[in-house]
Amino acid sequence: MKYTVVLPAAGSGKRMKADKNKLLLELFDKPIFIYTLEVFQRDLNCEAIWLAVKEEERELMEDFVKEYGITKVAGFAVGGAERQDSVRACLEMIPECDVVLVHDAARPFIDAKVISRLAEEASESGAAIAGVRVKDTIKKAESGFITETVEREKLWIIQTPQAFRYALIKEAAAEAFEAGFLGTDEAMLVERLGHPVKIVESNYENVKMTTPDDLIYGKAILESRRQEEQQ
Ligand code: C5P
Repeated sequence: MKYTVVLPAAGSGKRMKADKNKLLLELFDKPIFIYTLEVFQRDLNCEAIWLAVKEEERELMEDFVKEYGITKVAGFAVGGAERQDSVRACLEMIPECDVVLVHDAARPFIDAKVISRLAEEASESGAAIAGVRVKDTIKKAESGFITETVEREKLWIIQTPQAFRYALIKEAAAEAFEAGFLGTDEAMLVERLGHPVKIVESNYENVKMTTPDDLIYGKAILESRRQEEQQ
């Protein structure tokens, strides 16, 4: 299933304790967001890439895009204060298509097979998001004491990509904007409309580069993939 991908890339480096956008940090010799772009550049089903960037970083990011031969970037949107604003800025610019994927530029290790399943599912049912099963026991607590142990079998850790039919995500984003609703992912905007959202099982390598220890994990993933390629 063909799709257009929207990549919010207009965040900061606060939790990463970096003095610049964490996506510009390098894993070995390449900026984090380039690894993400390369996945979509390689995927034959990806028809166009739209990036939400900070105005002051646009030129730098555009230069990297050229340097690494990412030819599918169709346009840049100016990101907003919240991730949802950045995604909305892209959604306002993209031409009509069948399926739209929204993916954090900070998740460079996304698997192509998961992307493909998400696009198929979204085309069929309207909305599909990546997630992994919770491995630990989860409890709720108040004032330092447990109030509830949550049934683990029903819990999922939600990631991106999140895939939607074009008309559905456009409607959900516009509706949320009008209502002043801020969600922590795109699926929440669609859930608000009462539309079902399917989970596609992803993997634990699809981690978001958020804090400094994620960089160590990221390098380990790259190292093990390199070794696999050499065998
Ligand atoms: O901050 P966090 O890692 O959760 O952000 C997820 C993704 O959203 C990152 O790729 C980041 O660059 C992007 N983002 C954005 N605009 C914001 C905040 C985050 O595009 N205002």
